[in-house]
Amino acid sequence: MVSGPQPVALDVAIVGAGFAGLFGLHRMRGLGLRTRVFERGAGVGGTWYWNRYPGARCDIESLEYSYQFSEELQQEWHWTERFATQPEILRYAEHVAERFDLMRDIQLETSIDRAAFDDATASWSVTTDRGESFSARYLILATGCLSSTNLPDFEGLADFAGETYHTGRWPHDPVDFRGKRVGVVGTGSSAIQSIPLIAQDAASLHVFQRTANYSIPAHNAPLDPEHEARVKADYRGFRAHNAQLPFGAGFAPNEQGALEVSQAERDAEYESRWQTGGLGFLSAYADLLFDAEANRTAGEFLRRKIHEIVRDPEVAALLSPDQVVGCKRLCVDTGYFDTFNRENVTLVDVRSAPIRRITKTGLETADAHYDLDMLVLATGFDAMTGSALRIDIRGPSGQTLGEKWAEGPRTYLGLATSGFPNFFTVTGPGSPSVLSNMIPSIEQHVNWIADCIGHLEQRGLKRIEATREAEESWVAHVNEVADETLYPSCNSWYLGANVPGKPRVFMPYLGFPPYVEKCDEVASNGYEGFLLS
Ligand code: NAP
Repeated sequence: MVSGPQPVALDVAIVGAGFAGLFGLHRMRGLGLRTRVFERGAGVGGTWYWNRYPGARCDIESLEYSYQFSEELQQEWHWTERFATQPEILRYAEHVAERFDLMRDIQLETSIDRAAFDDATASWSVTTDRGESFSARYLILATGCLSSTNLPDFEGLADFAGETYHTGRWPHDPVDFRGKRVGVVGTGSSAIQSIPLIAQDAASLHVFQRTANYSIPAHNAPLDPEHEARVKADYRGFRAHNAQLPFGAGFAPNEQGALEVSQAERDAEYESRWQTGGLGFLSAYADLLFDAEANRTAGEFLRRKIHEIVRDPEVAALLSPDQVVGCKRLCVDTGYFDTFNRENVTLVDVRSAPIRRITKTGLETADAHYDLDMLVLATGFDAMTGSALRIDIRGPSGQTLGEKWAEGPRTYLGLATSGFPNFFTVTGPGSPSVLSNMIPSIEQHVNWIADCIGHLEQRGLKRIEATREAEESWVAHVNEVADETLYPSCNSWYLGANVPGKPRVFMPYLGFPPYVEKCDEVASNGYEGFLLS
């Protein structure tokens, strides 16, 4: 009998070399496990590798949006700005890969196509798009929450004669907007960051808006050396303090409810948060995400701001959102609303007159045609589940992850899913993930997974699987928490509502501190809710 080449034997296969995959590799190596990371990009950095559009930067402060696992690393790395740019974050990811000698176990430009668990060997058979085969005792998806792009199925898109870009797949070479008639579709975070810069160069810019979004000014600036020194004097204490806050990020919390104070006091608080800049606006009052009336006061304040900035009252009205503040991810900008005062910028309402098709020469809505040389699709992502579901992942029964999650993702703690042994997701659906500071959340998940695998290895155990009961009760709890909030009230990507046909399920878990407590409790109770054998 002729047999093909034997699969390469690994202990751990990790999919994705973003911040989760890099730290995952570091921890698995520390356990002495043969680990390989598979990354479809030509470099590390994950979302920060792909999202190179103009203006891309993080809206969590750089001193917080970074690893804490190595005191030396966090002391020696110097961020230049309050909010780091994409190139700087990418340099940081590359520095980490080099500093911890990670590259030798990262296989770039390789996608995992298929992974199937074999009960007889208690291991995963993994195949790549290069036709290679691996066996791995553990499979870890570090595929990120916002990595599979959402490309709307616009009729005629392929016929457009000009240049087309998606913000989440931006080219490595600079894109030249000078002298061009540019159209941007979308007004989420990516659009809100890129529009002010595109407008500076383009001959004309049309912004096609379906839903207006709230945005808070970043007030970005060079990082204050005194602030940096203060943080670095007790970086561990700074991290520990932030980990106790609801989003796991240093937004100054306020225990009060918005309706417990006078309007004047409320407006002063909102103004002060507006002047500070950034996502901390949402922590102005404890009930903003829970009480519609409280939230309405924040919405009114923000709509007033838009009217103060934007000179044309009709344009200001169109830019004024009517949904709950924070229901769609709050944006952070530099000069976004002010950009609509420019002569070369036009806002087009595609809610009242939807996009019909893309033509050879531009974009057609229900009531007009716009001639364009360049189309920028800032249309977001198939968030949280997209990348996982693009891989053919099969449990021992032959069931695919896609079949299991057909009605929406079901996980235990966002870390595991029943029917799929020795399989972990980093910041998966059902974990705080996108409702938290991502890098500390990633570290918490990777540490939990590494400790769990270490526990199995020490005891000679071969298999771990979440029980259906534990998963069901966790899913119910995630939904219960979401239903107490205002999050389900609008069409957000948190609910999968941006992708036609995607089940409407609120995917992230709100509350970083109670979540971490629950994970620790599960581990200290001998991995309660999991079957170990
Ligand atoms: P997004 O928030 O999902 O925004 C996509 C935009 O495209 C929305 O305005 C959406 O309108 C519009 N759109 C989608 N399909 C459309 C269609 N068929 N016709 C017309 N409009 C359409 O995507 P994103 O801006 O890329 O941001 C995604 C997430 O990534 C953010 O929420 C954030 O978590 C993260 N991010 C973070 C940063 C940062 O750290 N600063 C920067 C960028 C992104 P509707 O709202 O009507 O669906």
